[in-house]
Amino acid sequence: MPARQSLADIQFLLNDVLHAPAQWQALAPLADTDADLATQVLDEAAKFVDTAVAPLQRTGDEVGCRFDAGQVHTPPGFREAYQAFWQGGWPALACAPEDGGQGLPAVLECVLYEWLAGANHGWTMAPGLLHGAYECIKHHASDALKAQYLEKVATGEWLATMCLTEAHAGSDLGLVRTRGVPQPDGSARVNGSKIFISGGEHDLTDNIVHLVLARLPEAPAGPKGLSLFLVPKMLQDGTRNAVVCERIEEKMGLHGSPTCVMRFDDATGWLVGEPNKGLAAMFVMMNAARLHVGLQGIGLLEAAWQKASAYAAERRQMRAPGATEPVSLIHDHPAIRRILHTQRAWIDGGRVLAYHTALQLDIAKHSTHAGERAAAQRWCALVTPVLKAALTDQGFHGASACLQVLGGHGYVSEWGIEQIVRDARVAMIYEGTNEIQAIDLLVRKVLADGGQGLATLLTTLPGAAPSPAASARRHALVEITQTLAIAAQTDSELPYWVADDYLRAVALVLLEWAWGQIGAARQHHAAEPTAAPDRWTAPAQAFAQWVLPEFDLRAGILRQRIAQAFEVRPKEAASA
Ligand SMILES: Cc1cc2nc3c(=O)[nH]c(=O)nc-3n(C[C@H](O)[C@H](O)[C@H](O)COP(=O)(O)OP(=O)(O)OC[C@H]3O[C@@H](n4cnc5c(N)ncnc54)[C@H](O)[C@@H]3O)c2cc1C
Repeated sequence: MPARQSLADIQFLLNDVLHAPAQWQALAPLADTDADLATQVLDEAAKFVDTAVAPLQRTGDEVGCRFDAGQVHTPPGFREAYQAFWQGGWPALACAPEDGGQGLPAVLECVLYEWLAGANHGWTMAPGLLHGAYECIKHHASDALKAQYLEKVATGEWLATMCLTEAHAGSDLGLVRTRGVPQPDGSARVNGSKIFISGGEHDLTDNIVHLVLARLPEAPAGPKGLSLFLVPKMLQDGTRNAVVCERIEEKMGLHGSPTCVMRFDDATGWLVGEPNKGLAAMFVMMNAARLHVGLQGIGLLEAAWQKASAYAAERRQMRAPGATEPVSLIHDHPAIRRILHTQRAWIDGGRVLAYHTALQLDIAKHSTHAGERAAAQRWCALVTPVLKAALTDQGFHGASACLQVLGGHGYVSEWGIEQIVRDARVAMIYEGTNEIQAIDLLVRKVLADGGQGLATLLTTLPGAAPSPAASARRHALVEITQTLAIAAQTDSELPYWVADDYLRAVALVLLEWAWGQIGAARQHHAAEPTAAPDRWTAPAQAFAQWVLPEFDLRAGILRQRIAQAFEVRPKEAASA
């Protein structure tokens, strides 16, 4: 997928729709990054992705990773591309200059990773967790650990892993059994087995920094007894730590990324953050990772869309309605245009939401106004699970719809679109499954404050006043949230049944806001001699016609289930 092909679109969204440079330049540490510098960075990033990473996509899938006596060999070309990547300063783009980073806005890093995922998801898994690991070490590690590891991870000279999952502990990390026993010298002995660890072992870098969830002796059971340990593959004296890769998984897609079973056999590690507060430290990493996983959904969908769109512009079959030629381009068949425009509506709207979220990350970190920081934190907390779930869902289902455009040629390997569909599937599962994201949104975030935070977010969405229909949908969502909160007091299962419908409804209202922003920017341009490109018209219509009506479906399901809850226990509900 040429990254360059979406550069103009992305610049329109950043500069004209979100006014991103003005937003980040209002923050002191980012004040020197103007729109021209951002353009240069994105230009170079697109070049790197297109020339160094994209060409390895097919090899990564077909050759895959190879396991040999504890060693993992990545596909040909992967190591060279990774070395060029970190030496070119790409992992350090949004890290602080004092840590060896370039101090650029988070949103530029987001665009880079979206492109990388679209070009080669398997390869991108390797650096995908770096920024989260950097934030985790920066905010929670001791000064001694930072001195040794922070810059290496910021620059990407050493890659990092996130070691959470165990055979019996997936979504439920409270079941983790790996142990860390403190030693008199301040280190810890780590013992246990982890599964599904992306990049647990490889030949891309000389060292690997594992961030491992484990229990201290006497720690309470459950998630409140988890601590975080940093366990390097190579120790400071150059010896190999007792961290062993036992095997790598055979899997549906992502063949370029080794998914490892890791054994920690009295491995030397060090506590990161406070005892029993490991999950809190890990969540710094997971939140950053969740936005990036949402961006994987967009990147993969864009890659599939580009292939489908190019194919539809060449393939001729049957006469399209109203056509005069006996055989038409398949692009002229409304069914095919509908698929393409609908997926574009998700990509464009999803980008606005993801980039706006990345801007909020910087505002939450750097703004000098407490109110602004609080609003940005609210946005990130509420919208990150929505992006992760809705965009990865669309990444997979939308890529499958794009495959349909190629007919049987999409199903065979030649065109490379079946690889995208296979690769995209996992994003709905890892970094917290999409079911867990929906519960996180509704139960832990929205209902936890009786829906106040979400109502505030919806009534303070930036930009011009919404249309009456958009305003009605926002009000409907607030009203549903309020009645859901009441019904949940008597039917405690209810939120868990409807969390997915709720997340979809929130996603659609946010996408409607995003398309409203795109529309406003286009109108603004239309008044000027250089009109905004026409290419936004069809997806805007597709959003209104084929995507947004799902809101009524979801609202209907939610209202029906809430009404049922009131019917089952009318007395308790009425008195609540
Ligand atoms: C390719 C790949 C790479 C991965 N990389 C990493 C990595 O680098 N580091 C790491 O630590 N892990 C990694 N994982 C693991 C991944 O995060 C887990 O697979 C995921 O968290 C789900 O855990 P599980 O597979 O045990 O499924 P389970 O937790 O057993 O879930 C099974 C099903 O039950 C549902 N479910 C579970 N609990 C609930 C609930 N409370 N409410 C509703 N539904 C629920 C889930 O949504 C899912 O549909 C990776 C996995 C894969 C496949």
